[in-house]
Amino acid sequence: MKPPAFEYVRPSSLDEAVRLLADPAKESKVLAGGQSLIPLLNFRLAYPRRLVDIKGIAELAYIRRDGDRLRIGATTRTRDIEESDAVAAALPLLTEACHWVGHVQIRNRGTIGGSLAHADPSAELPAVCVLLDAELKVRGSAGTRTASANGFFHGFLSTDLAPDEILEEVAFTIPAAGTRWGFREFAHRRGDFALAGAACTLRLNRDGVVEQAVALVFGATPSPRRSAAAAAMLHGNRVTNEAIREAAQMTRRELASEPAGDSEQAYRQELCEVMLVRALTDAVNEGASRGVAA
Ligand SMILES: Cc1cc2nc3c(=O)[nH]c(=O)nc-3n(C[C@H](O)[C@H](O)[C@H](O)COP(=O)(O)OP(=O)(O)OC[C@H]3O[C@@H](n4cnc5c(N)ncnc54)[C@H](O)[C@@H]3O)c2cc1C
Repeated sequence: MKPPAFEYVRPSSLDEAVRLLADPAKESKVLAGGQSLIPLLNFRLAYPRRLVDIKGIAELAYIRRDGDRLRIGATTRTRDIEESDAVAAALPLLTEACHWVGHVQIRNRGTIGGSLAHADPSAELPAVCVLLDAELKVRGSAGTRTASANGFFHGFLSTDLAPDEILEEVAFTIPAAGTRWGFREFAHRRGDFALAGAACTLRLNRDGVVEQAVALVFGATPSPRRSAAAAAMLHGNRVTNEAIREAAQMTRRELASEPAGDSEQAYRQELCEVMLVRALTDAVNEGASRGVAA
């Protein structure tokens, strides 16, 4: 299939890009790495009259350590995040998640901003952002605002972004030293979108009791979903195999309240439980040695 005809513009600054998007008559859409948008155009699932290509805007591509924060510009490529020493040192969980995004050719072009704005339920980077409650900086014709990743994803391919807004930056608060983590996903073939996945962070005190737990699953719900039940169950307890199994079962029960989905939904929910057991087990067994160093 070929895409519908569109006008193509390549602004050199964020201000110019925002101005171009603000014209409603043009029905513009942002183009970043093109790894999701171009297939949508080719399948005639999107009909923008104008593409505003932001890949050439130098001010949007960076990875920057800023105190206890790691700031990543929206057009930073997944591959650059995956290979970044700064990311590996501050957020190895993010490095690990990037390994799972498609194939290297996809990661060479796809951007963090594009992945978040596209909001595929099985995508790894939105899942990490929700797990770590990343702060998203958004620029539009009304100015700049920040949004929490928790609340940004509204459902299947749907976010908080208005048509005239550009995601500018993703800022992560670097977890405290010693924070353990796990990230697991399942796909039929390496490089495919995950059928389901899970991620977690755990902080234990000297006695091995959980001081803070965040558990999340993705792929089985329209957006990545934190498990309140798993976090509450783990908090204040030792992370035994039984506790892990119980936390994962509670998470699956939470998923049962989701609206009916496709024929694979029950299978994906079951996979979420298994992936969460594995992610939590990784966090307990290996998390200390590869702990998130501040
Ligand atoms: C074969 C294949 C396999 C893939 N496998 C995976 C996978 O396993 N996991 C995974 O997560 N992804 C996967 N992807 C998707 C890939 O990661 C995309 O790169 C990503 O989803 C979108 O990033 P992009 O920069 O290419 O965005 P684009 O395709 O350019 O844009 C995607 C959407 O986001 C909007 N947009 C882009 N940037 C911004 C911004 N800064 N502000 C506002 N809106 C913006 C666009 O308007 C568009 O609606 C795969 C893609 C392909 C083709």
